[in-house]
Amino acid sequence: MYVAIDDTDSQDRMCTTYTIFDIISRGKYDIIGDPELVRLNPNISYKTRGNGALNINLGKGNGKRSITGKISGKYIYSYEKLREEPDQNELMDFISSIVEELYVKDSEKTNPGIVISGDRFEKTLYSKALQEDISINFIEKYLAEKAIYKKIKTGHGIIGSSASLAWPGQKYTYELLDYRYPHYGAISHDEKIMISLIPEEYQTTFNNVDLENNYPAIFPKPKTPVIFGVRGVDKNDLISIYGKIQEKHKIDDQGYIIFKTNQGTDDHILIEPDYLSNMGSYSATGIISGNPYTIEGGHSFVEMKYKNYKIKLAAFEPTKEFRKVLNSLIPGDIVNAYGSYMNGAIKLEKIKIIKKAKLYRKEAPVCPDCHVKTKSKGFMDYRCPVCKKRYKNAAFYEVDRNIEEKFYEVPVIARRHLSMPVKLAPYFYSMECV
Ligand code: ATP
Repeated sequence: MYVAIDDTDSQDRMCTTYTIFDIISRGKYDIIGDPELVRLNPNISYKTRGNGALNINLGKGNGKRSITGKISGKYIYSYEKLREEPDQNELMDFISSIVEELYVKDSEKTNPGIVISGDRFEKTLYSKALQEDISINFIEKYLAEKAIYKKIKTGHGIIGSSASLAWPGQKYTYELLDYRYPHYGAISHDEKIMISLIPEEYQTTFNNVDLENNYPAIFPKPKTPVIFGVRGVDKNDLISIYGKIQEKHKIDDQGYIIFKTNQGTDDHILIEPDYLSNMGSYSATGIISGNPYTIEGGHSFVEMKYKNYKIKLAAFEPTKEFRKVLNSLIPGDIVNAYGSYMNGAIKLEKIKIIKKAKLYRKEAPVCPDCHVKTKSKGFMDYRCPVCKKRYKNAAFYEVDRNIEEKFYEVPVIARRHLSMPVKLAPYFYSMECV
């Protein structure tokens, strides 16, 4: 029986993933398959942080077992198959009591929603939840006769919960999340950087650390139950990384859970659509049609023609050194831009320079007889200082541009959960699912 939960946390407290940790640590049900952390529309205003919703399949398990976490020093296993479904209402009572206990009660923006269903939902709901703003009304109609659900306060969380059960999970990565509740004590910045360098040694991990910006990305903001989260495509590597971190840094945690996620998959990106709408995220190939400019605050923009649209590409200040890429573009460049669209601008997550336009430098021509450079005497008038011969046309020399025909992406410090790091592209292509 699938249990989905969303919207239990606030900006500075809790993390909905911890409710899953708590459910598992009570050991009342077997876990079937992987617990899932599903990121939804990154442009939703209600989100606390990364718009993540959670689900887990519970019951009596059967078949092969594999490690899915470690709690109080003991491995937690999940089963390959379901042998027996639990009673839906009893399960709802159990889950509700945990969510009621853990959710952040004094935050207006926290509106938990629990959905329990014997089946997963159609992929169309997942796709919609990545591109649009869905209403509670729509979801309640959708859930009628499909599932049981519980709303706490406005119950807005049932939207994310339902959408998480619609994730088909074809393209996926994993995240190992390590916990202590209510939260772990302080870890110095230098130690965080040292710990972040451990997963960085593995080819299968991503978004661990941003050394240029001195940012240990595996550590979330303090005061949530998450101590750190390591992302990767190989579960066994994540388990071994955890072991290495513990060996060297002795984190006094309660334990960890490995979630299957849609992080790093680009699932939010619609490719080359005819229409762009606010809240959507796209990959759009077009031609640069203006010169880049930077406004106060250090945000850079450049205009691009895409199908019938004239849009702006934006690299905001938090994207740091990535702004240099945008600022190197010139009219005529053909690029493939990835990011979310809002008010006429694509907020860039990455960009592929497909074809660079040629850039020329204009200079006074060299006199072919005397081999000396002519001198400009006004508009279309160049004279050789030796033989005094006149030339009308300037000489143009191609300038070497400081940019290559390849992908550029925002640094780890500015990376969105769903955005596929360039490093992962070969992995997904080899899975033949993109
Ligand atoms: P965290 O990542 O720490 O779990 P969060 O960023 O996921 O926090 P939530 O507290 O879960 O933030 O709030 C997100 C809210 O947005 C939830 O109520 C969820 O149901 C809702 N939501 C998610 N996707 C959509 C969507 N496409 N349309 C409307 N509401 C959505």
